[in-house]
Amino acid sequence: MAQCYICGCELDSRKTKPEHIIPNGIGGKLKSREILCDKHNNELFELDQVICKDLETHTNRLNPSRDNGKNPSTRCKLPTGEKVILEPDGQYFAEKPNINVNKLEDGKINIQYSTYYSTNSKHKDFALNQLKSITKGVCQKQGFSDENIEKELKKVDELFEKSIRTDFNPILWFQFQFNSSGKLFLGLSKIALDYYFYNKLSTEYVEEFLNKFKEQDIIFINKNANYYYDKVFLTDSIYHTLILKGDKSNGLLYCIISLYGVLNCIVFLNRNYSGDDFLCKYSYDLRNQKEVIFDKNPTIKRDMVENILKSRQFFDEIKNTQEVFMSFFKYGSDKEIKKDLELFEKNVEEEIKLLQKKNIISDKSVFYDKLAEICNNHIQSNNTLKQLTKYEQERIHQEICKVITYEYYLHPFLLQAINKILLLAIEEAIVNNPEVLNDDNKFVDFIYDFYTNSKTSIKAINELLITKKDNIKKIISNFIKKFRAEIRFISQYSKNYK
Ligand SMILES: [Zn+2]
Repeated sequence: MAQCYICGCELDSRKTKPEHIIPNGIGGKLKSREILCDKHNNELFELDQVICKDLETHTNRLNPSRDNGKNPSTRCKLPTGEKVILEPDGQYFAEKPNINVNKLEDGKINIQYSTYYSTNSKHKDFALNQLKSITKGVCQKQGFSDENIEKELKKVDELFEKSIRTDFNPILWFQFQFNSSGKLFLGLSKIALDYYFYNKLSTEYVEEFLNKFKEQDIIFINKNANYYYDKVFLTDSIYHTLILKGDKSNGLLYCIISLYGVLNCIVFLNRNYSGDDFLCKYSYDLRNQKEVIFDKNPTIKRDMVENILKSRQFFDEIKNTQEVFMSFFKYGSDKEIKKDLELFEKNVEEEIKLLQKKNIISDKSVFYDKLAEICNNHIQSNNTLKQLTKYEQERIHQEICKVITYEYYLHPFLLQAINKILLLAIEEAIVNNPEVLNDDNKFVDFIYDFYTNSKTSIKAINELLITKKDNIKKIISNFIKKFRAEIRFISQYSKNYK
C-alpha cells in the first residue's frame, strides 16, 4: 500500500486527497493520491503558495486552466504611477479611485473623482455607482429635496459619460521577485520530492534530504538547490517541466524544475548517489493544454556541481526567459498579424520554389512532411504567428496544404517530363507514322498515347499524365500549332532523304 512520504502512514488512494506535484495554483496538472496523507497535504500547502506568490504575475498573464479555484489578480502600475489591479482575464481597474470633496468659497461643493478601467470592465459600473453615492450623501447633508437629488444624480450620469477619456495604447508596468518569502527553495524541494515519490522510487536514497526538508532546514536546502538556467528547456511555448535523474557514474540524484520556463532551478536530492541510473521526465504545454514528450537528457558531471550551486547572478538569464514568456502575449494589431501572415506565405512559397529546383520528392507523404517542417519553422520565426496556439497554427498549416498541394509541387517536374518526351514522340511520328501529321487531332492523340505508353521513372508523374489528360493535350496542341511549319519541313526533308 502507498504511504505518506512525510509520516509514513498508509494511504487509501480512494479516500486520499490528490496532491498536485506542480501546484494547482500555477496550472499544475500532474497529481497523485499515493504520496501524501491529507494532513500533510494541507500542512505543506503553504509551500505551494510560496511558489504561486512568486509567479503571480505570470499566472495572471497566462491565466492557465486549473483543477480548482481562480487565478490571481495582480497589481501593476501605469506610467503615471497609479496602481492598477489586473485580473487574469486581462481586465484592469484602478486600485483606489481618486476622490476629493471640497467646499468652495462661494459655498458650493466640488466633487472630483478619477479612476481607470479597461474597456468593458465591470469597474465602470462600480465607479459610477460610487460617484453617485458620494453625490447623494453630499446632497443629503446639504438638505436637498429628493426631487433635487434625483436631478443631481441624472447630471452625474451625463457628466460621467462625457468625461471618459480613452487611451488606445495603455502601458502597464509589472514587477516580480523570486524568493520573496525566503522559502522558495523549500517549495521547489517539495516539488522534487513529490515527483520522486510519484515515480515510486525508494526512500533510501533521499533519506537525508527528506529529513532536512521535514525540519524545514532552509540553510541545508539552500546549499543543495539553486536557480538553473541551462538551455535544456523548450522555448516554443510555455511549459512546466520536471527532469528527475539518478546518475550512478557521477554519484548524483537531482531534479531539474522549470515553471513557466521562467523560474528554472535544480534540487540535488543526493550528492552521493549509489542507486541505479534512471531518468523521469514530465513536460506540460500550458498554452496548448497538453503533456508533451521531452526528449532531452541533460547530464551534470560531478565537477560541475559546486559551480552550479555557487552561482548567484541570474539577472540576464531571468530577463531572457521572461522575454520568451512575454513574446507569447504581444499579439500585435490586426494590421501586424495580416502583414506577418503575408510574410509567412511568401517565405513558404519561396522555400517550395527552392525545393522544386532540387531532386524530385517522389513520395507524397515525404513531401507533406517536408511542407509541415517548412511551415513550422516559419511560424516559429514569425513574431505574431508564433504566439498562436498549436491548434491555430495547425489551421494555418492546413490552409497552406490546400494551396501548396503535391500536384502543385510536381508541376515543373511534369513540364520537364513532357518536354523531354514531346521531341521523341514527334520524331516517332515523322519516321514511322507520317500520316498523323496531316490531322492535328490525330497528331495530338498520337503524342499523348506515346506519353502514356513510354512512362517516366516517377510514378507520381505517370499518374499526373493520366489524370491531367485534357491539360496535357492542350499543351501538346499549342506546341504543334507553334511549330507546325518546322515539323512539316523536317517531315518533308526526312521523306526526301529516304
Ligand atoms: Zn502524512
